[in-house]
Amino acid sequence: MENRKQNYIDGQWVTGDSEIENRNPSDISELIGLYAQANSDQLENALDSARAAQREWARSGIERRYEALMGIGAELMARSAELGELLSREEGKPLAEGKGEVYRAGQFFTYYAAETLRQIGDNAESVREGIEIDIRREPVGVIGIISPWNFPTATASWKIAPALAYGNAVIWKPANATPASAVALTEIIAKQNIPAGLFNLVMGSGRSIGQRLVESPKIDAISFTGSVPVGQGIATAAVQNFTKIQLEMGSKNALAVMDDGDLDIAVAVALGGAFGGSGQKCTASSRLIVHEQVHDAFVDKFIAGTKDLKVGHALDEQTQLGPVVSSEQLEENLKYIAVGKDENAELLCGGDRLDMPTEGFYMAPAVFVGTKNSMRINREEMFAPIASIIKVGSYDEALSTVNDTKFGLTSGIVTRSLARATHFRRNARTGCVMINLPTAGTDYHVPFGGRGDSSYGPREQGSYAAEFYTIVKTTYTASGHPE
Ligand code: NDP
Repeated sequence: MENRKQNYIDGQWVTGDSEIENRNPSDISELIGLYAQANSDQLENALDSARAAQREWARSGIERRYEALMGIGAELMARSAELGELLSREEGKPLAEGKGEVYRAGQFFTYYAAETLRQIGDNAESVREGIEIDIRREPVGVIGIISPWNFPTATASWKIAPALAYGNAVIWKPANATPASAVALTEIIAKQNIPAGLFNLVMGSGRSIGQRLVESPKIDAISFTGSVPVGQGIATAAVQNFTKIQLEMGSKNALAVMDDGDLDIAVAVALGGAFGGSGQKCTASSRLIVHEQVHDAFVDKFIAGTKDLKVGHALDEQTQLGPVVSSEQLEENLKYIAVGKDENAELLCGGDRLDMPTEGFYMAPAVFVGTKNSMRINREEMFAPIASIIKVGSYDEALSTVNDTKFGLTSGIVTRSLARATHFRRNARTGCVMINLPTAGTDYHVPFGGRGDSSYGPREQGSYAAEFYTIVKTTYTASGHPE
């Protein structure tokens, strides 16, 4: 009996016009399931029912929202082992990372459950006598959420949780590469005491159902995480309807390793940042900018650490690096290895496809040295287990190289100097700065986002998310009572 999964629209599980196969990238002989693809009538139905449900949700008070969000968060955390395994099976990240991601997703919901009770507005004195002013946040309305495959549960959760907490309805189009995690999260949300239609899952390809969603005048706001070209397309479509947008896109994050840094910390931080999640993170450290005084010692240790990383099936407890997500991603990665070689970067290790006991999209983590920041491998997001090392002669050169990119999500420095760390924090042109830490790895209660081509629109996460998921109303009241 095949495992068939449906879309969730207007409080009902519904089949679509077609289905896609979901296969395990660690073992492509394993079919995880068949997933329904929503059609445009179903999308319209979702949009209309979301509009009605949102009004009820906004009216029905903050304790109902608190309980629903707490219920979702608690179940995600309690089932993180089971759902983390499912996530690792379909996405390919090692089991510990899959479990950790589902647990973290639960924390986004419990955090925003608490935020529902903290929706406290402002008031102001009027410049006119006898008038009082109150300033409060209202829901935006119906939010379209388009999420990627690399953090299928966490990214969706850090968008869905604040959307619901601040009184909105949701239409969620997850990445077609990771539908099992999307259905699992939807099953948990569907159990809560929420109006039918408040939360809708519409699986389908980005080019068809995703594009229709972003072009719809029935949507009030779109939160997207993915590639720059798709983000640009969403921005262009959204402006036609003046739809509010929040875009989190690519990056080319750099870690600067200084001559006064602790070498062991530098190597550990660089290995985690470059190869965690097989480099498929928008926060990955793909450029390692190393001071010439420590360059050779760093390279020796970093190469040894890279060669020690155990690549394998995501569900094998020993695995530190799973496969990459798809054959297309693997082809792209191998293309970038060829690009680097053509640019005369020296490949010191990895970069080839690996044969394993099960057929999957395995690749040996790769390290280029002798690279220049102007090379394509240092300018374009690769989303791959590929790190390139750039040698610099000074801290100032390191900082200007970190900033010499069109992106600006995260950056990092390894140094023992408080003065340098402080200068770096102030002058790195990125949304997040990491000192003696990997460029990847953030908390759930503080803002996340970048500059340049990495982000567009208000920040995600923490209380800052209110900026996107709410709209401000200013009310003037004349009491009419004489003083
Ligand atoms: P995409 O930007 O294509 O996909 C992200 C999401 O957008 C998916 O849900 C996708 O649907 C959807 N989408 C695609 N096209 C449209 C469209 N025209 N309108 C609306 N939605 C759309 O990224 P990919 O998954 O193809 O990855 C390609 C590259 O993008 C990666 O190699 C990486 O460089 C970058 N990326 C960056 C991420 C980040 O975290 N910043 C996350 C993912 C990718 P579908 O499921 O059909 O693909």
